Amino acid sequence: MAQKYADVIIDISHEKVDRPFQYKIPQELSEVIYPGVRVHVPFGKGDRDKVGYVVDLSDSTDYPVDKIKTITSVDDKGITIESSRIQIAYWMKRQYGSTMIAALKTVLPVKQKLKHLEKKKVTRCLDTEQLEAMVCQCEKKHQPAKARVLRALIEEEILPYELIRQKLNVSSATLQALEKQGCLRIETESIYRNPVKHMESEEKRVLLSENQRNIIEDVLRDYRQGRAGTYLVHGVTGSGKTEVYLGIIEQMIAMGKQAIVLIPEIALTYQTLLRFYKRFGDRVSVMNSTLSMGEKYDQLRRAAAGEIDVIIGPRSALFTPFPNLGVIIVDEEHEGSYKSESMPKYHARETAIRIASMHKASVVLGSATPSMEAYYRAKAGEYKLYEMTGRHGNSALPSVYIVDLREELKHGNRSVFSAKLRELMDLRLRNGEQTMLFLNRRGYAGFVSCRACGHVMKCPHCDVSLSEHRNGMLICHYCGYEEIRPANCPSCRSKYLMGFKAGTEQIVEALHKEFPQARVLRMDADTTRTKESYEKILAAFADERADILVGTQMIVKGHDFPNVTLVGILAADLSLNRNDYRAGERTFQLLTQAAGRAGRGDKPGEVVIQTYQPEHYSIVHAANQDYLSFYEEEITYRDFMRYPPVAHMLAVLITSREQEAGKELCKEMTKLVNGIWDERESTSRSLQVIGPAEAAISRINDLYRHVFYAKHADYQVLVEIKDRLERFCKEKELKNQTVQYDFDPMNTY
Ligand code: ADP
Ligand code: ZN
Ligand code: ZN
Repeated sequence: MAQKYADVIIDISHEKVDRPFQYKIPQELSEVIYPGVRVHVPFGKGDRDKVGYVVDLSDSTDYPVDKIKTITSVDDKGITIESSRIQIAYWMKRQYGSTMIAALKTVLPVKQKLKHLEKKKVTRCLDTEQLEAMVCQCEKKHQPAKARVLRALIEEEILPYELIRQKLNVSSATLQALEKQGCLRIETESIYRNPVKHMESEEKRVLLSENQRNIIEDVLRDYRQGRAGTYLVHGVTGSGKTEVYLGIIEQMIAMGKQAIVLIPEIALTYQTLLRFYKRFGDRVSVMNSTLSMGEKYDQLRRAAAGEIDVIIGPRSALFTPFPNLGVIIVDEEHEGSYKSESMPKYHARETAIRIASMHKASVVLGSATPSMEAYYRAKAGEYKLYEMTGRHGNSALPSVYIVDLREELKHGNRSVFSAKLRELMDLRLRNGEQTMLFLNRRGYAGFVSCRACGHVMKCPHCDVSLSEHRNGMLICHYCGYEEIRPANCPSCRSKYLMGFKAGTEQIVEALHKEFPQARVLRMDADTTRTKESYEKILAAFADERADILVGTQMIVKGHDFPNVTLVGILAADLSLNRNDYRAGERTFQLLTQAAGRAGRGDKPGEVVIQTYQPEHYSIVHAANQDYLSFYEEEITYRDFMRYPPVAHMLAVLITSREQEAGKELCKEMTKLVNGIWDERESTSRSLQVIGPAEAAISRINDLYRHVFYAKHADYQVLVEIKDRLERFCKEKELKNQTVQYDFDPMNTY
């Protein structure tokens, strides 16, 4: 048998990950050595015995064979947490295409100087009546932040400090001021060694509906019988999904298991977090982007030590090294942010299912608008499907009006607001209710072009048009390049260089003109460069310091505003016109979510969808909040085109300094793929190769981009193709060129 080699890492901490050592695998161990296994190896000059982890296997070596040492034995201490991390990294490397090092860096906690997370809590020092009086005072003095804290403390006697800081967006200075005034107490505790009792022992429990109880019992029964699987809970926002998660987690904890809860950061609201804190007290830890590396490491270390039971966080929380993982919840499983944008380009949903199967744990997916992937698999019986209908509480679904913008123009309305929308906005302003206007673009989205010769102002480094901003600058949203807007067309010198105005800034300008009395806030990528500014805008709107909030996708997530009774979607089909197989799905999700923002309080909501394509199925079904009909039409299209989830798709993206070289490499790789599959006739019939081609954005930051796609019903066939391409690139020793793999991509390139 041919000699096999193993890459071994002696000290599995981040800094050393980059330098694995190669060892020979002795014949008698060849069956038992795979990534994740702990082995004894001779190390260093004196061949001292050391324990290391196998992270990768290979058939060849770049070193002189006689210089390579041999693995001594397999360590019999069993599977450690690190072992399972390495196994998952290896799976990700194979499944998604990346180096083992990149995969290891994704799954292993960064070893850092410990900076302990300060666990602080805020306790009220006044009774409810006194607090209410203080709230009135603060409101009179225009101190909304103070009022927010005090109002929260009327509801809850004790609150976690970071919850107030982050989710109520209150500064530490404000909290200190309130402490000085004697309203509250800030205390630090060494909670982790001494977990205190749950925050509210007398938490008001809702009486679960029969449907909720059934789901919880079903999931747990499977689990107890060793048949843990994947479950999809489909239910509109407010239908009680979170109660189901809480119920499952609670019983998991009672069995000594832990839970990972993935929630897109943008959707993780104060109310939701509070519910988790109330139910599980200090056994909950929240991972978010504001934590330092040291704090994150500390958090993961605690999870490994069994000091917490539940972690809540975005995609990366998936790699929390719990010793006895029982369940992974993926809320809002359709969210695009669950797919990593850097290598390995893993999907958190699929990776969660893989991790869970290693631990015999359950996976619960939840969404109001399930991804095509999840619903397709649920219908195929791979996942168990649960439908939750109706909202708890009284809030009914909003009434939806579709407005045909072509008709508006016919009737001489050139404003961005249709007559219907204007009428309803006017009503809101007079009733003191709030409106949200949603546009799925940012900035002065549009490009600047010459009306005389058609010249489009483009970024000199990227193949995209520049966007005009109010300060007169032209900005590239890919690389950040900026230039002053020229007065004349650089091509024909005419002075008719105009912006195509359809962005949030322009909506705000139109509002000022048409509703001069309205107080307007704008939220998009430009106004929310920092996380804080994002929270600030939301807080201001929640405090009703504005009548109208104008924004992009980010306003449609999470956050309940009980006083919002009108949602306007200004150009619903903008997102449809993209050359992208997921455009219909994304539009449906966005519209459904946006519509769901209206009427969350006791007042009924209304929604106006303005569009040039009122008959498009994504728009019609979103207006009716009819997921099933949307799914049926969309899956027919995917099936016909053999797009995911019906088939699988691998995108291969080549970036290069020189255009010709990139083009050539892309062509060669495409040819190789076509060649392999001619050899294997039976499969070649179902393999489809698209390309080679320039990417839709053919240049970013002076790097040329070429792309091709392979489609096949069997994911593993695509993995084999990727492996073959990786070998090909390794032999070529590419310089100035990089190749990226993206399985079932979220966007086409
Ligand atoms: P989702 O996660 O689907 O948005 P939630 O679990 O947050 O739904 O429930 C929405 C609201 O309805 C919450 O305030 C919740 O407390 C309440 N609720 C959920 N289930 C019940 C129930 N069985 N009885 C009464 N209220 C419920
Ligand atoms: Zn011109
Ligand atoms: Zn650019």
